[in-house]
Amino acid sequence: MSKITENVICKFCGCLCDDITAEVEGGRIVKAKRACPNGRGMFLNYDASYCKPMVEGQEVEWDEAVAATVDILDRADSPLIYGLSSTSTEAQRKAVQLADHIGAVIDSTSSVCHFPSSQAFQAVGEASCSLGEVKDRADLLIFWGCNPLVSHMRHFSRYSANAKGMLRPNGRKDRTVVVVDVRPTATSKVADFFLQIKPGTDYEILTSLRAVVHGKKTDRGVDDIAQERLEQLSDMMKECSYGVIFFGMGLTMSPGRSYNVAELFTLVAELNEFCRFSAMPMRGHGNVAGADQVLTWLSGYPTAVSFARGIPQIGPGEFTSVDMLADGAADAALIVASNPAAHFPHAAAQHLKRIPSIIMVPEINCSPEAATVILPTACYGIDAPGTAYRMDNIPLRLRSVLPRNRPTDEEILSQIIKAVKRC
Ligand code: SF4
Repeated sequence: MSKITENVICKFCGCLCDDITAEVEGGRIVKAKRACPNGRGMFLNYDASYCKPMVEGQEVEWDEAVAATVDILDRADSPLIYGLSSTSTEAQRKAVQLADHIGAVIDSTSSVCHFPSSQAFQAVGEASCSLGEVKDRADLLIFWGCNPLVSHMRHFSRYSANAKGMLRPNGRKDRTVVVVDVRPTATSKVADFFLQIKPGTDYEILTSLRAVVHGKKTDRGVDDIAQERLEQLSDMMKECSYGVIFFGMGLTMSPGRSYNVAELFTLVAELNEFCRFSAMPMRGHGNVAGADQVLTWLSGYPTAVSFARGIPQIGPGEFTSVDMLADGAADAALIVASNPAAHFPHAAAQHLKRIPSIIMVPEINCSPEAATVILPTACYGIDAPGTAYRMDNIPLRLRSVLPRNRPTDEEILSQIIKAVKRC
């Protein structure tokens, strides 16, 4: 007999779609109605069975695994805590508390995606809005350096281009869609206006757009883009009633990084002289926005924070995990809900293999080589409740649809905090 749960939140990506109907049969989710292929894969492949943790390839009891974790952290001079973007806000708070206790560096996956957005936000501010406002009001949507039809598959239908809202009852017919990118994408193919730019020229284009918006001429545009194209885009921006720029890693991780985003935020702020305009980063992982929020509440900084000197210090390029690992500066690592070995550059991934490490993931089939200690915890939003922040920084309560057989990240981190030596 199956059990149906309505209004489940999918926490796979920053859209946090909250309209999923999950059907459970035989202890597994067998249907996830309305979820996109990415979300469906997460729900249908999840195995909530009890599973023992491992230390050096051997199955052990949970208290032994926690003791082994504490031993590694106690011995370390320069521990690193990394990940956080797929766990709950409650667990993220515990991770920051642990970093403070042991004098660790703590860094989230933001450091390889939207850290420049947070830096720009702290430098120049950000005119933002909620996804509800986008749905109800926006008539101009600009997607800069992102491809939501592939990465955030329901963004268009739930919140933006195709969504029917209070003041936009005809959905797509009431909105103009613009894409700015370095190559044609699935999203650019359905756009009304596509501005293709050369890689690495985002800053120049944004600066020129600011000039054009204020009625100034650039000699012949930039990057071979005619002044006329910039003027067309500038007219669309000034003449809309409610515009939003969604931006992705094509902007944040291209040369200029935080300067690109600061220029975009400045352009958006200036556009508010003509109409209502906002900007929003397309956050990837389900609670990466929460990781930024929690770290900022507790330390003042969004990521790459060191507690080694007893006070929080930020250090992009120094305390960012890729740099810490590639430079050999970390001598132990605690990974929470992430898999850096699969995604980090070779030098960083190799150093991670050399040092003692602990991985805390809701994945019961981790290979023993993945870490010295493997802690297979429950999955927030599937077999554990918790809080996550949507890409517009709205916190939502994740529901649990399967019975829980394993401890949560928050519970295990609390046990570690009680047992570690305070530095
Ligand atoms: Fe899940 Fe994102 Fe797909 Fe929505 S768009 S169903 S949150 S993966």
